[in-house]
Amino acid sequence: MVVANQKGGVGKTTTTVNLAASLALHGARVLVVDLDPQGNASTALGIDHHAEVPSIYDVLVDSKPLSDVVQPVKDVEGLFCAPATIDLAGAEIELVSLVARESRLQRAIQAYEQPLDYILIDCPPSLGLLTVNAMVAGAEVLIPIQCEYYALEGLGQLLRNVDLVRGHLNPALHVSTILLTMYDGRTRLASQVAEEVRSHFAEEVLRTSIPRSVRISEAPSYGQTVLTYDPGSSGASRISKRRVRSPCGGPPYITNRSTPM
Ligand code: ATP
Ligand code: MG
Repeated sequence: MVVANQKGGVGKTTTTVNLAASLALHGARVLVVDLDPQGNASTALGIDHHAEVPSIYDVLVDSKPLSDVVQPVKDVEGLFCAPATIDLAGAEIELVSLVARESRLQRAIQAYEQPLDYILIDCPPSLGLLTVNAMVAGAEVLIPIQCEYYALEGLGQLLRNVDLVRGHLNPALHVSTILLTMYDGRTRLASQVAEEVRSHFAEEVLRTSIPRSVRISEAPSYGQTVLTYDPGSSGASRISKRRVRSPCGGPPYITNRSTPM
């Protein structure tokens, strides 16, 4: 699942790490691929990502096997992370001249032999080659949308990029899920934005929206997800309660056909 939105600060990383932790806490084996040179997902999962750490940069640019860079996340069994270091900032340019530059992540994931139920890819706030690599590797796109003014600006471009990648490189790709984040029910703006997004994307928007919550924003400073930092908080419950059993008896999955909380 590709977590993407070229708008910055909309909750991509927060969604990725907390959803991944929630799935792992319910028994799934989950890999988070940090594809953002900022390395925020690595930080949030308590994974060391200083410049010398083997990272997703080595996988994309030097064809290192993914298994050489994946690290287990302390505190959450079954959760793993392929960290990003600052090296990745140069990858957008370095990839341009490499063979199969759009499908390097896809190849690395295909060659990864460890059993996994989910892979979540945290994209940078851009539509460059890193995000294209994520879209070529992924099966579906999850778009977090912040319930603020400007929320829908740029969304058209993102959707066009998904269409382009589907048309040329990954026929299976589709936007499966839109998640409203940082929802502040006290403001009329938040409900107006939510209403507008729902009217455009009735099928894709999850009924649950993530509230603006201090606990969610504090958790990364302890190298934790909100699920381990404060499992009883409102943000944690919104993320973890939306699950149903998979029809084949496998791990739980998130549904967007659930009833409102
Ligand atoms: P970037 O585009 O820089 O990668 P992003 O889309 O990954 O950003 P996040 O880093 O997840 O966005 O979130 C941006 C900021 O908002 C962070 O400081 C995060 O802690 C905070 N934040 C995210 N979700 C919530 C929430 N539900 N309540 C309060 N703060 C939040
Ligand atoms: Mg981020």
